[in-house]
Amino acid sequence: MKWMEFPREILIGKNVLNKVPDVLSKLKINQKVLLVTGKNTVDVAGKQIREMIETAGGVCEICVCEKASYEEVDKITETGKAFEADCFLGVGSGRSIDLAKLSSKNCDVPFISIPTAASHDGIVSARASIHSDGKSESVEAQAPIAVIADTEIISRAPFKLLAAGCGDVISNYTSVLDWELASRHQNESFSRSAAMMAYMSADMISNSANLIRPGLESSARIAVKALVLSGAAMSVAGSSRPASGAEHMFSHALDRLAKKPALHGEQCAVGSIMMMYLHGGDWQKIRDSLRQIGAPTTAAEMGISNDEIIEALLRAHTIRPERYTILGSGLTPSAAEKMAVVTEVITE
Ligand SMILES: [Zn+2]
Repeated sequence: MKWMEFPREILIGKNVLNKVPDVLSKLKINQKVLLVTGKNTVDVAGKQIREMIETAGGVCEICVCEKASYEEVDKITETGKAFEADCFLGVGSGRSIDLAKLSSKNCDVPFISIPTAASHDGIVSARASIHSDGKSESVEAQAPIAVIADTEIISRAPFKLLAAGCGDVISNYTSVLDWELASRHQNESFSRSAAMMAYMSADMISNSANLIRPGLESSARIAVKALVLSGAAMSVAGSSRPASGAEHMFSHALDRLAKKPALHGEQCAVGSIMMMYLHGGDWQKIRDSLRQIGAPTTAAEMGISNDEIIEALLRAHTIRPERYTILGSGLTPSAAEKMAVVTEVITE
């Protein structure tokens, strides 16, 4: 059996935030809404959404959250149950959406993703990233029932976030290769259509790299469309496989060991340059697209030390051992250093 979960409504464009009441009414869930947001995004979009819902006759309670931890998930779940919310809204960059995704699942009600930045494909996926004991964990939650991406708001978020989101999508080039490899070496089930969608989303960013600029609504539109397509690839696959390979394991390793990790999408993209080198593919194309966008391509640009890069490369294959990738059973220290030096991620 194949079970695919997709959002029912996806709105991308200028001022689509105003459509929140319409979407709620179309989904017939406009009674009691719990809005999960952060302390900055509450002013960017949160209060405005509450006002619109109340004007339309609904009830909306705002939960301002600090960090994406299990304690916070429990707290929001309790609030949702006490409030008898029939829908959650995740309004913010990553954290608020992850929290809404998981706590709404705990309450057995749907959630709507309303990103105010487009820094990773979690804005459309079923997985949530939660911090526990200083580590970030990716857990299965639920896909949003709707995505409302106001590209005007997203274009006003720091450009670094949008560039990271583009990096997360570009990294699909190597995720897809890893998945194909796993299907050949380990007979892992593989979906050609999911792989093509993930590949296409990476192409969308790479081919438009010269159009992605700070402050442009059209750039936010390109990034969000690609993120949505990448999310759809995961929905078709029924897992994160088409958008998460060795480059993601490298990023998760950095999250655990680096003194100051960079953004998820930045790390995955730099990982993807190196993993493409291992695959024997066109790693320069990935690097050049990232450069054009203005996303980091080196350890120094990410604020990460050479030693941390090497250590993350050596540990990456242990992060998710059941997920077969080009890293196989691991790299030797000299191989790790060589790939980082050749791809100019680190300098000797
Ligand atoms: Zn990712």
